[in-house]
Amino acid sequence: MKNQKLTRRSFLKLGGATAASLTIFSRNSWAAASPNTGVAVSTTYPETSSELRIKDTSRFKLLQLTDSHFFQVRKDGPDEYLLKAGVTNRDARTMDDWKRLVDLCQPDLVAHTGDMWHNNPEGRGAEYQQAGVERLDSLGVPWICVWGNHDELDDVPKGHDRFHDGKQSLYRGGPGGGNYTVNVVGPDGKPAWKLICMNTNKNGLVEESLGWLTKFADEREQKAYATPSFAVHHIPTKAYITAMTNGTCSGVLLEPVSHEKETGAAFDQLRRIKSLRACFCGHDHISDISGTVDGVELIFGRSSGWSGYGWEKVRKGGKLYTVNCQAATYAWESIFSDGFRWQPEKGKRINEVLDEPFMQDPLKKQVKAA
Ligand SMILES: [Zn+2]
Repeated sequence: MKNQKLTRRSFLKLGGATAASLTIFSRNSWAAASPNTGVAVSTTYPETSSELRIKDTSRFKLLQLTDSHFFQVRKDGPDEYLLKAGVTNRDARTMDDWKRLVDLCQPDLVAHTGDMWHNNPEGRGAEYQQAGVERLDSLGVPWICVWGNHDELDDVPKGHDRFHDGKQSLYRGGPGGGNYTVNVVGPDGKPAWKLICMNTNKNGLVEESLGWLTKFADEREQKAYATPSFAVHHIPTKAYITAMTNGTCSGVLLEPVSHEKETGAAFDQLRRIKSLRACFCGHDHISDISGTVDGVELIFGRSSGWSGYGWEKVRKGGKLYTVNCQAATYAWESIFSDGFRWQPEKGKRINEVLDEPFMQDPLKKQVKAA
């Protein structure tokens, strides 16, 4: 969720920073100095939309992976059991999970909803991004992604091109600063579903992305018929707070909704898109829950990265959406690398860590038993 590093303000409060030392500091360790994630546009590729053709429009399967945080180096905590269990490379465990989840789900599409890699230390963000793209490609399934607040780079336009150039990539966010759409079509080429992908960068669904969304909603409002759709983004909107508190939510909520600088205007636009069935996001690793506002389901994905925070409380996995495009209905379930699947009990909000298979990593039990 949050970047724990120094903010510009707190750093300047330390005093005595010369221009030269600022430059050195920003290149090496000052994450806040990297350009805002995905906002600068690229004009290399003009497309702002891609197409995914699926065989069976009564069963479109989308696997959401999120917050993989590749290359984050974490210190072992006091409750560390991963090393004892033989996990020396957390990213390798994440990759192993990804592959197993794809084998289990056989999805038509993988959607990675942000924080694929972790920051830009020593200008290495581009290398990390390239590794993320190759890892997604290795799944052998078409994929899309949206930018997360930790997906930092020195050269953002090149980053759009790198996402676009993945062999299995349907990313078309270059001209829109990370905002684009995906048209899911049936074997006959007719529209079946639409994905509205947005860049919530570091600040939430505000500024350029809110402008893009407003324009999109203007266009959609004019249309008598609209294909059912999902909105896909990293940081939740403030409306998620309403969804968590209006009595409609079901799932695990272990941290406050981190909507950053978005204060409600985004959902005013989203609700104008009459075809919108749901929004799904990441960012808050220890929440896996959804609730409904004005008929739109607001969903947190299941965090997927063992290098990201929160694995001690909520085990990592993915979320599978099975969509009947013909009936404009869908269902989701959280899914784990050992094949365990979980749907929350309707109307129940869980605010504590439980000894349940949808929260506890099975490896932890194995280490305890050994
Ligand atoms: Zn995040």
